[in-house]
Amino acid sequence: MLDIKITKTTSPKAKPTGKLGFGKIFTDHMFLMNYTRGKGWHDPRIEPFHDLTLSPACMVFHYGQEMFEGLKAYKAADGSNYLFRPDMNAKRTNNTNDRLCIPQIPVEDFVQAVKAIVSVDQDWIPTEPGTSLYIRPFIIATEPFLGVDVSETFLFMIILSPSGAYYESGLEPVGIWIEDEYVRAVRGGMGFAKTGGNYAASLAGQVKAHDDGYSQVLWLDGVERKYIEEVGAMNIFFKIDGKIVTPMLNGSILPGITRDSVLQICRDWGLPTEERRISVDDLLEAQANGKLEEVFGTGTAAVISPVGKLRYKDDVMVIGDGKIGEISQKLYDTVTGIQLGKIEDKFGWRVKVD
Ligand SMILES: *Cc1c(COP(=O)(O)O)cnc(C)c1O
Repeated sequence: MLDIKITKTTSPKAKPTGKLGFGKIFTDHMFLMNYTRGKGWHDPRIEPFHDLTLSPACMVFHYGQEMFEGLKAYKAADGSNYLFRPDMNAKRTNNTNDRLCIPQIPVEDFVQAVKAIVSVDQDWIPTEPGTSLYIRPFIIATEPFLGVDVSETFLFMIILSPSGAYYESGLEPVGIWIEDEYVRAVRGGMGFAKTGGNYAASLAGQVKAHDDGYSQVLWLDGVERKYIEEVGAMNIFFKIDGKIVTPMLNGSILPGITRDSVLQICRDWGLPTEERRISVDDLLEAQANGKLEEVFGTGTAAVISPVGKLRYKDDVMVIGDGKIGEISQKLYDTVTGIQLGKIEDKFGWRVKVD
């Protein structure tokens, strides 16, 4: 159990009105906890949201030793506040930390910290349909030292951002660019870890895709550039000839919590599922035979993101009829229904914030 010291703001901000968008508005408070080698994690605290004072020599600025997580808090119709599988974010934090030589945080301490900060700022959880409070835990290396080494000090923080409905006008299928020049991650690298470096490596591909009118990049494996890995910040699923297929976790793909939830729900529904290697050629062939029935991305931000178009070199695969697929819609309704407390939580995924 952390002994969290809470200092409340004396000048609360006005709550936002109108469209929230994503990631630009922050709540009144933040959680902080320091790590010092030899002492461990210490001084867990909640303070008014504030800027940081850091040495320009801090290791995070030079060699990128940092990690982040992303999850959401939801307000149910009865006024209860819920998190969705926060223990999974805590476990993934430690897998990321191990890869980046960042000290682990006990799972129960991580979950306690998330609950504590959400509880303090619970009035910031928006209630309009599709909205939620985005939670961003992250850790940075703070030792002021220009040598390449593991930092002796770290700062763990959690900030909160009320976020709008991902889709303003329903679940609209997006266009996806299959990138054949740049790669995001390789086996043995840090593709499975949630760390800024993976995103830095993805920007050039994203710019290319945007310039061509596609909203997201689908990455191929870094060795043969043949097998499907994942989308920028989402895992990818295909419905091929009645089967729900997704790339298997191979070390260079981020193990999404939404991905895991979708697989469990599909199995519960009795749908055949497969986690395997999928090549671009498999997709082109399925498309040519009329068997590529649905394509969707999964991630905390959008939950389910239907894909209407996939471009690979000179081929453009148009999926479905420009509308969300039947299974995609059903999965969206089921996952968000569980998150919001509208349907029975048979998997025990919802966690109440006191
Ligand atoms: C966070 C993330 C995902 C989605 O994970 P969820 O736990 O479902 O939100 C997928 N890919 C990448 C690269 C990510 O960073």
